[in-house]
Amino acid sequence: MSARKVPHILKLSAEEQKEFVNSFDVVMCDCDGVMWMATSPLPRTGEAANALKDDGKRVYFVSNNSERPEEEYVNKFTRIGVKDFQASHIMHPAKSMLYYIKKHNIKQPVFSLCSAHGNETIRRGGVDVRTLVTKEDVEIATLDKITRPEQKMGAVLYDINLNLTYAQIAAATRYLADKDCQFIAGGTDWLLPMSKDLTLPGFCDFLDTIKRFSGREPTIVSKPAVLLGEILKDVYKLADPKRCLFVGDSLTHDVRFGLNCGFQTLLVLSGGAHIEEMWQASAENQPHFYADSIADFIELYANISKNT
Ligand SMILES: [Mg+2]
Repeated sequence: MSARKVPHILKLSAEEQKEFVNSFDVVMCDCDGVMWMATSPLPRTGEAANALKDDGKRVYFVSNNSERPEEEYVNKFTRIGVKDFQASHIMHPAKSMLYYIKKHNIKQPVFSLCSAHGNETIRRGGVDVRTLVTKEDVEIATLDKITRPEQKMGAVLYDINLNLTYAQIAAATRYLADKDCQFIAGGTDWLLPMSKDLTLPGFCDFLDTIKRFSGREPTIVSKPAVLLGEILKDVYKLADPKRCLFVGDSLTHDVRFGLNCGFQTLLVLSGGAHIEEMWQASAENQPHFYADSIADFIELYANISKNT
């Protein structure tokens, strides 16, 4: 299917802008590239979230990044001025893994390749999280002993972890040799956008190594997996997906995720995506709307109030 004309929310007529904001009750926003860049701020994004809240929208945040501790998320949202922000308003892979572990009643300890902050989130939920910490250099002579399974695990967890090591990956494959041990994965992004000028490799290739070697397919609980959509629908009581607007800066993760879940989708160009990518995408991969930034909602609401 060829590309179609995606409307910019500020190019809609005043009447269409009104129809657009009346077409959703819930807004779910990606964080990095939408509310801020990984290491720098984006202008007026908190104000935009407040404009949506003032219009009666429920606003939640859905990130593939569990590398940040809960307190830092709360501080970041508070710092950019988002009103009434609570930790429960953000979903990220460590939380969706915890949801999955509880829902599927996994009682045994889990072996985690997640970040320390991700592990902390899962532990706080009452799960016995085991990790592999190596104090000395790993050598071929010691590798077998270091990576030997210590006991039966209920699951292996995988997520973005800047301190991931070869020994941890090798140990995970040994736990996954037990077919009763589940395999649950969070962040599968292949890029790690740091700032406008710097993008680094993401973590999907390490996951691919584990998949290829173990012959196991993980249950993915991050964007763009539909399972995350089911989790969000349950946690945030989303009655009608069509009345939810998903806002993100990635065609492959945010827009794809929103489309997979039946949400309306808005691509913002403040992060990783270039407008050419959107025009080149086939119609079924394009968002419903686009904007330069989530901050365009400030002008959109000003237009609406001027014209009513
Ligand atoms: Mg993003």
